Amino acid sequence: MIKCLPTEVQGKLRSGVAIPSLQQCVEELVLNSIDAGATCVGVRIDMEAFKVQVIDNGSGMTAEDMENVGIRYHTSKCSSVEDLENLRFHGFRGEALASIVSLATLVEMSSRSRLSVKTHVKLFKDGQGMAVFESETARPSAGTTVIICNFFHNMPVRRKRVDVVLEGERIRQRVEAVSLMHPSVSFTLKNDCTGTMMVQLPKARDTYHRFVQIHNLARAEKLGEISHTHKQFEVTGYLGKEGHYNNSLQYLYVNDRLLLKTRIHKLLNCLLRRLSSSNQKNDSPDGTSVIQRPKHKRNQDLYGVYIINIKCSCSEYDICLEPAKTLVEFKDWDGVLLCIEVAVKAFLRRERLVSLFSQEDLDCVSPKVFGTERTDQKDETEMAGQGAIGASTLDISVGMKLASDFVHRRSAVDSVCLESDLIDSRTDEAQRYDLMDVTQDRVHGQNPQNHKVPVEPSLDSSCKHQLDEDGSTCSDWLHHYDTSVGKTVYINTKTGLSRYEEPASEETRVPCTSDVSNMAVSVISEMDDANENSLSSLYSKWKNPVFVRPPTVGVDISSGQADGLAVKIHSILFPYRFSKNMIHSMKVVNQVDKKFLACLINARDGDSAAQTDTEGNLLVLVDQHAAHERVRLENLVEDSYEDDPDATGAKRLCSSTILPPLEISVTEEELRLLRSSQPHLKNLGLEVTFSKTGAPQLFVGKVPLCFMEKESNELRRGRPSVIKPIVEEYLREQTELLRVTGRVTGTLPLTVLKVLASLACHGAIKFNDTLSRDECHSLVASLSSCQLPFQCAHGRPSIVPLVDVLHLDKEQKDFQKPNLQKLRRMYKAWELYGNK
Ligand code: ADP
Ligand code: MG
Repeated sequence: MIKCLPTEVQGKLRSGVAIPSLQQCVEELVLNSIDAGATCVGVRIDMEAFKVQVIDNGSGMTAEDMENVGIRYHTSKCSSVEDLENLRFHGFRGEALASIVSLATLVEMSSRSRLSVKTHVKLFKDGQGMAVFESETARPSAGTTVIICNFFHNMPVRRKRVDVVLEGERIRQRVEAVSLMHPSVSFTLKNDCTGTMMVQLPKARDTYHRFVQIHNLARAEKLGEISHTHKQFEVTGYLGKEGHYNNSLQYLYVNDRLLLKTRIHKLLNCLLRRLSSSNQKNDSPDGTSVIQRPKHKRNQDLYGVYIINIKCSCSEYDICLEPAKTLVEFKDWDGVLLCIEVAVKAFLRRERLVSLFSQEDLDCVSPKVFGTERTDQKDETEMAGQGAIGASTLDISVGMKLASDFVHRRSAVDSVCLESDLIDSRTDEAQRYDLMDVTQDRVHGQNPQNHKVPVEPSLDSSCKHQLDEDGSTCSDWLHHYDTSVGKTVYINTKTGLSRYEEPASEETRVPCTSDVSNMAVSVISEMDDANENSLSSLYSKWKNPVFVRPPTVGVDISSGQADGLAVKIHSILFPYRFSKNMIHSMKVVNQVDKKFLACLINARDGDSAAQTDTEGNLLVLVDQHAAHERVRLENLVEDSYEDDPDATGAKRLCSSTILPPLEISVTEEELRLLRSSQPHLKNLGLEVTFSKTGAPQLFVGKVPLCFMEKESNELRRGRPSVIKPIVEEYLREQTELLRVTGRVTGTLPLTVLKVLASLACHGAIKFNDTLSRDECHSLVASLSSCQLPFQCAHGRPSIVPLVDVLHLDKEQKDFQKPNLQKLRRMYKAWELYGNK
């Protein structure tokens, strides 16, 4: 039976969605204060009691208004549909307070309006509003105080998941983020549990100066202004000329309201992700010289820095909130994305910034343009890898054109025309290569400035592209009628997955993550190669963006085609999959070339493979270095842990004292996170003390034992000390983990693994080391007891299959050797007569 939920249940369910976190609660209250015209907002939080208090000097509320406050859909900010078109406030639905009230045991609102000397109070107990009364202690001036007690009292699970320190950090970031759009308002945030002032921001001249207050001048100096209007959207703000190591300097707003994790963030990240941390500018006038990225930065993406506000009519979009993101829907996504994109492009051009793009970036944005149309992928990937040719060939126009294509593909020409309005004569040259087909730059590998002819961007309509929720694109399915099974096979060009069911027309545009079965399609089907529409010809047209293409030529030994051939290509058709069981059956034949161990493995079937008495059939080569490195790594990992004396049954990383303690500078945020995680640090083999002066600096007195081993190895070899950079990397890894994932523990930290892998490598058997039979046996035995026997410490394979002895021709007793005597005679004859 379908029944209506009681009103109070409706309210609770809805409230949990509307105000999913304490941060959101704080933000709503602060926005209400700003809407009330406050110039001073004070926030106090007590994370242990789940208490929030917000005090402002805004317009306050009259006794009459107080009667209606906190009741759902009661608002002073909107009274008609027309008002929705022209909103001047952050709120307009009259829902926030009602939601907050229903999630707290006690809420107290006290307010004095500008026209009154009286202060009125309204209490809400367990969501129920009480009668408004006059307070005995009058406020000295107009304003409102809202106190929320015991928030989330009816949501124990959500409450349990709140980490006091991390949530406190998020509230700080939220208040800071809101404050950036309201520089003329002063903000404070106080932690009542610890008594610390977390945020203290006096009035600032503008957003830029607010940024200086929150971060610092050095960071602010790396910002450049942007501003652009496109149709109904106006984008203003600042972009960082350098990247940042995490995404904490990314602020995006629509009409001053903070947005989290939207499609626009994705676009911005794609456009800005390869900005380097420093010196990546292309300073030379001809655009040819590039400063090489520091080596260790090469694989490390940096995050763009931005403070961007999108202004448009409120009827253009709809916002709702989720714990970690804002679900925002724009009527005209293309318009808003294009507006942002053009603004960013203009900025990059003006700042002469070089963005280095890799294959991965290109794929992430537009597989069509850079997957199928580009003729020389390898060339491009190499360039990105070297980073040295970046400025001349992989100029910013790559990123720009890319974005145009995926954001606004259907009207790419508009986008180009529109840009020309925007660009002044100074950037005329740059503008020209924006118009060029990027593929050309790639192929010729030339300085784009040599090309003077604008080439129209291709408007290929054969492949529909649509932006999905995640911002990636999806294209059509290829299809083919497979005569051998009598069915049509559909292949997704993006994922390589195939299936028999016809994808619905909708599905050709939906995210690639839609459930498609991974049906194996035999590449070598019956002789249908001649057929234009054959499956194999489809595969040959299709540039697989995800996987390496399977070999297109194979010989099917089971069909008798291969009878005349001397070598049967067996493994192409029946690729071997090693299992751990097989490794147990491994028997050493001999060491080969002082590099490999030739072994026999029983690869016949999974179950019997473990029975070591069965003869091995598959001849494999074990890389002696890779194998030993793996064995050593697993032993080292095990030895890196000791029993935790503070927690029975638990393990922690062994540590070693370092004297004098390492002095390490960290950011303020890192400092706060590390301060709050002392016990956690101990488990990580660290002992950290903090500077008494409160400076963002710490002293590391103990580090994981393996770091010291690595250090002494390096010093012994006469190389410079490595301990400090390693510990810095380790601390950063851990603070980032903490920030992003919370206090999750368990796995071996990456930095420790890297150090152990390097130790494992250095002590391992090398190529050219002769091994006795016994040594070979014990190496193979140790390898078989490893958890990941198939790869070395760095992930390279340790075992390769050579030949299945079952397929060797047993009849052929003696092998045919070349007849050297005959050859010599022929050679002599050729010398005597041949060259005359
Ligand atoms: P909305 O902000 O969408 O109107 P809220 O539930 O957040 O809805 O607030 C309801 C109403 O309460 C507001 O419209 C406003 O009139 C009043 N109000 C809330 N907070 C304050 C405040 N700090 N100062 C003055 N009035 C407030
Ligand atoms: Mg509100």
